[in-house]
Amino acid sequence: MLRVLFVGRFQPPHLGHIHVLSWCLGFADEVVVVIGSAQESYTLKNPFTVSERLEMLRCAVREAGLPLAAFRFVPLQDINMNPVWPRYLETMVPRFHLVVTGNRLVAELFRDYGYPVAEPPFYRREVCSGTRIRSLMVSGDESWRSLVPACVASYIDGIDGVGRLRRIYGCSGGGGTA
Ligand code: NAD
Repeated sequence: MLRVLFVGRFQPPHLGHIHVLSWCLGFADEVVVVIGSAQESYTLKNPFTVSERLEMLRCAVREAGLPLAAFRFVPLQDINMNPVWPRYLETMVPRFHLVVTGNRLVAELFRDYGYPVAEPPFYRREVCSGTRIRSLMVSGDESWRSLVPACVASYIDGIDGVGRLRRIYGCSGGGGTA
């Protein structure tokens, strides 16, 4: 039984994330998907709540035709101590054998605890990123829809996610969505 760990903020879940989940199932039996920064929402960088992100991930997995039973979704709050973050995470999730990540800090922290780390293949890296998708939403550019699964776009419409993001942007006086 090979279980891999994939950590993200999923703000929102996009085609790159789903590509990684599908890639993982090419060699793993189960994927623990940690929804990080669970305490964050209603900010430019993290507009969606952890429960919204969970719902979007589940619908995206179903839409991609992947078996939902192969994924364990675990919300996880951040802590203010990077060096012990992997230990803290270990106490919240089932045991895993490999960390899949394209995030350099995440890779570095888990390597220091002796975990093997694999970098997943990037999917349309230059366009398919949460930062870019949020930025398109703020600027009223509808092309963000082509970068997320259809059910995620419908979900975001249903909660007026773009309106939320634009209002937060207005309140913050702008300044980027990274
Ligand atoms: P993210 O949603 O931006 O990315 C998640 C993963 O998807 C990354 O591995 C990324 O490389 C991959 N990805 C993104 N675009 C892709 C594409 N087009 N194709 C293929 N893969 C793609 O999330 P993130 O910011 O990387 O999440 C890291 C989480 O870990 C955050 O919640 C962060 O706060 C948390 N963290 C917490 C601590 C702490 O609490 N001290 C320390 C380190 C990390």
